Amino acid sequence: MAEEKPLPPLREVIAQYGLNADKSLGQNFLLDLNLTGRIARCAGKLEGETVIEIGPGPGGLTRAILNAGAARLIVIEKDTRCLPALADIAAAFPGRLEVLHEDALEIDETTFFEGKAKIIANLPYNVATPLLIKWLHRRERFSSLTLMFQKEVADRLTAIPRTKAYGRLSILCQWLCETRREFDISPRAFTPPPKVTSTVVTLIPRVEPRYPADPAILEKVVAAAFNQRRKMLRASLKPLGRPPEEMLEKAGIDPTRRAEELTVEEFCALARAYKTT
Ligand code: SAM
Repeated sequence: MAEEKPLPPLREVIAQYGLNADKSLGQNFLLDLNLTGRIARCAGKLEGETVIEIGPGPGGLTRAILNAGAARLIVIEKDTRCLPALADIAAAFPGRLEVLHEDALEIDETTFFEGKAKIIANLPYNVATPLLIKWLHRRERFSSLTLMFQKEVADRLTAIPRTKAYGRLSILCQWLCETRREFDISPRAFTPPPKVTSTVVTLIPRVEPRYPADPAILEKVVAAAFNQRRKMLRASLKPLGRPPEEMLEKAGIDPTRRAEELTVEEFCALARAYKTT
């Protein structure tokens, strides 16, 4: 599945098209082909698959995804300067790469394919969390999401109770997806190097959320609990406007416990108890 026409090394592409990294677009490029190949492999078999990549930049990961056999790759890039480099890749892999010059926060990528797609991306850090939340709302259209985040965000996605990183994002992601931490990447691997370590995470949306709960109520209960994460739940749940002790009793949760001690299952029980209190 290699390119039909050989492509120049990425450093040459960056020099040729003047792709000096723009900080405001979260540009830290990955030029190491071993690493881009490794990220693409985390998404599993790509032959015959439709893949979405956000922020292809000069196209290192893009090439890896195409080399791994993706039948169709749709990339969404905001920076006009990257378009000629991406056009060269499209020419080298005829009929397989579509380039959308769009803002990934604004676009509904699910309108560009039928059935399910995989998302693979080295995300711009400044918009990584809102993008993830957007995709979680449309998770039935994605068979997997293999995403690079700053390590601190990856820690939050995969955190377990009683840890500092455990919070709203951990509960939402783990309720809706199986989450798998893949590997860390040192800042030195990027051009220019970011300030922090990065981590690749794969999320596989569940067919049904892990435990029954109304999503809006779960979000409300979790938000209230973590707004005052060090307080006992009997105090932190007061702003919900329902008697906290009654809700907690129905859910079988000791009112002196704190938000960061509760499992995803217990938060779902609390959301169900809210409905009947
Ligand atoms: N995929 C490339 C790589 O791995 O070397 C570049 C990754 S770089 C961390 C993030 C990319 O996202 C940049 O190319 C940047 O221009 C693009 N980007 C930033 N904000 C964006 C947005 N809102 N919509 C689409 N692309 C965006």
